[in-house]
Amino acid sequence: MRVLVTGGSGLVGKAIQHVVEKEGRGKEEEWIFLSSKDANLMSMDETQKVFRKYQPSHVIHLAAMVGGLYKNMKFNLDFLRNNMYINENVLHAAHEVGVVKVVSCLSTCIFPDKTTYPIDEKMIHNGPPHESNFGYAYAKRMIDVQNRAYFQQHKRCYTAVIPTNVFGPHDNFSIEDGHVLPGLIHKAYIAKKEGEPLVVWGSGTPKRQFIYSLDLARLFLWVLREYPEVDPIILSVGEENEVSIKEAADAVVHALDFKGDVVYDTSKADGQLKKTASNAKLCSYRPDFYFTPFQQALKETCDWFVANYDTARK
Ligand code: NAP
Ligand code: GDP
Repeated sequence: MRVLVTGGSGLVGKAIQHVVEKEGRGKEEEWIFLSSKDANLMSMDETQKVFRKYQPSHVIHLAAMVGGLYKNMKFNLDFLRNNMYINENVLHAAHEVGVVKVVSCLSTCIFPDKTTYPIDEKMIHNGPPHESNFGYAYAKRMIDVQNRAYFQQHKRCYTAVIPTNVFGPHDNFSIEDGHVLPGLIHKAYIAKKEGEPLVVWGSGTPKRQFIYSLDLARLFLWVLREYPEVDPIILSVGEENEVSIKEAADAVVHALDFKGDVVYDTSKADGQLKKTASNAKLCSYRPDFYFTPFQQALKETCDWFVANYDTARK
């Protein structure tokens, strides 16, 4: 089993690498972690070359244009085009070299905006996504369509996981472009140093389910090795573990021991008010799975950011 990981240098890729190295690679598993330096996956030519070079039997496909709410709102066209190219190239090149299993990565933010809750795996295509990230959402939804077509026409087991908001070491801590937790961690770190207030964007009322990148990595390995379906599976903590942005900001304040004021800039958009996802399917396969408690995972992430401030992506 030779596993090629696209996007191997990012938040999720680094977590998978860590888990493979520290918690055991399977017998007769060989792992290759790619970054954009190995191949620009927007180019079909470069994608085919890297797949021919490594001849993988299995692929974890993470590479994507990724960003938080505010980056999505500015660049819907780029999110749509770049991710459609990357996904088309990776799945086609994988099929060409005979890859038997691909696990791609969707997201709970691609579900319909107007929906019933909790969201489950069957609802992906039931209506338009939230307008803030429709480019990313439609490109990601197409992976699910492609997977079904690869199975129907070629019997390929190309599947996808659907994580909620991910966080952990090696995240993109960019304040402007990143997701909420790395953004707040970076802002709180600076506010603490400068003796200024921490500014949380939006009202603080939207709710999110956060999954620690190392927990996600462990689940990714299980999906790669054992999950038998082409249909996707939501990888999430339970609905009861959903937190508001205000609760998340308070948790960052606590983890970084920030003593200053916390203010809310309500001129900034809130994005989706919630995207509460059901992890019932995951629980039916993995009733035993242990999720790292949120506060502990956040503390580990903050400690990593402080220790790696000079080199962290920001
Ligand atoms: P990330 O930290 O931003 O990493 C993105 C990865 O993609 C990097 O390894 C990057 O390579 C690579 N990449 C980007 N454009 C590329 C290109 N044109 N050619 C080759 N490689 C390219 O993202 P992440 O958070 O780990 O996300 C991984 C996957 O999880 C993505 O598919 C994302 O949509 C999905 N996801 C993420 C979240 C979240 O909250 N972060 C939530 C749900 C789903 P370089 O390092 O060389 O730039
Ligand atoms: P989303 O979950 O896909 O919407 O993406 P984000 O991870 O960017 O989370 C966006 C939510 O966090 C919105 O409700 C924002 O108003 C809120 N938020 C609060 N402060 C920040 C911040 O500093 N950065 C980001 N990206 N979002 C923030």
